[in-house]
Amino acid sequence: MPNPQQPETRYRALTAVVLTLLLTAVSGCVTVRESARPEASADAGTSSRPSSAAGRTPNEVATAAAQDVERFWTGAYPALSDGAAFVPVRGGYHPYTRTSLPPACGDQRTAYQPNAFYCPDGDFIAWDAQTLIPQLQQQFGPLLVGVVLAHEYGHAVQTRLALGDQPTVVLEQQADCFAGAWTADVLAGHSPAFRGVTPAQLDNTVAGLLQLRDQPGTPAQAPEAHGNAFDRIRALQDGVQKGAATCAAYRAGTLPVTEVPFTSRQDAANGGDLPYAEAVSSLADDAQEYWSRAYPQLTGAPWRDLRVEPFTGTPPACPAPDPAAGGSAFYCTSGDFVTFDNGRLGPQLYRNIGDNAVGMLLGDLFARAAQDRRGQSTSTRSGQLTVDCLAGSWTHEQLQRQPGQGLTLSPGDLDEAVAALLAFGRASEQTGTGAFDRIASYRDGVLRGLDSCS
Ligand SMILES: [Zn+2]
Repeated sequence: MPNPQQPETRYRALTAVVLTLLLTAVSGCVTVRESARPEASADAGTSSRPSSAAGRTPNEVATAAAQDVERFWTGAYPALSDGAAFVPVRGGYHPYTRTSLPPACGDQRTAYQPNAFYCPDGDFIAWDAQTLIPQLQQQFGPLLVGVVLAHEYGHAVQTRLALGDQPTVVLEQQADCFAGAWTADVLAGHSPAFRGVTPAQLDNTVAGLLQLRDQPGTPAQAPEAHGNAFDRIRALQDGVQKGAATCAAYRAGTLPVTEVPFTSRQDAANGGDLPYAEAVSSLADDAQEYWSRAYPQLTGAPWRDLRVEPFTGTPPACPAPDPAAGGSAFYCTSGDFVTFDNGRLGPQLYRNIGDNAVGMLLGDLFARAAQDRRGQSTSTRSGQLTVDCLAGSWTHEQLQRQPGQGLTLSPGDLDEAVAALLAFGRASEQTGTGAFDRIASYRDGVLRGLDSCS
């Protein structure tokens, strides 16, 4: 996100936003699809690997992760089971390759899939040690491999707790939440297998989950639905912040599932994206209208129309002294306007992520202006998180609208916002407020609205 204090540093990461097609799996538990991926910088790449993972092959990391997840559940399970002891998977682990396939699971034909899965029939966990796990480790670091294994083990825990009679999307998010509970244990320093996890590695793991999301437009009730990235990251963070008991209580009807199908054939044909210029102008108008209602609620004072000055080439002058001048996007306090690079930054966000990445940019700029205008910091950690929450409050209103009431969200738009936050707020940058925390704060605003942003 645009940060007046560090404009150059903040936007360097954007040049590394790339579209990658890793793999597309046909079925099974873990699927990897095309999506925006903030590429790990050289810094994040090296700092993101915990020292205890150094030199381990991806398959060794996966095995160590599965064992570590068992260590975690041995301690955590009795609290969920009236004291019954945890029983590890009876069928063991099965890393497989194209030429060395996993055992058959029930009556499912055994064929090579770039997947990881839990098989209830044989009570075993299997993973593709040839393609999926090495790619995840190489691109996102070993913690994502751990999270994938913890997710699969979460399905084994569901079987043990007899939680299986729920819609797939609930089961998948519960498994993500269980993986988050394990991640919290790792972050607390209890894991001999994963040590020294940095905020940058957490952010890389979230970036990996973006790749493991459902294809936008998947209805949440579809049999194969795992959840969009927004919901899956929420589930993971739920587990990190609230623990396994919260996950075990997940039920259909109590989960805020935001995954929605496309509403029209045209929407589906263009992937839910407006043309770029139209996206910029209608998003800016919509933000202006939103803040003319929201700012008086927040402060009791009226909202003055905020000038939006997109630039190409050289940014508009921001009267000195203002550290924001010269960045790719910023709110100029002294001139009381927002501006962004309409030649590179905006089109890059649009092309590499989608129209609501531009929405996230404008949402951040307007929120930053609102926060500054009411005399609060936008550069401290808590100021930054409030800006993210305020940006989310705009999204909250968009989600409540009926068709025809101004801009509404398309499938994938929330994921685009998350991808944009990842691109803007990697923890490798200097404020120390990583994307993991910023996404959580943005989500507070999205799910609970303006009142949740203090
Ligand atoms: Zn799953």
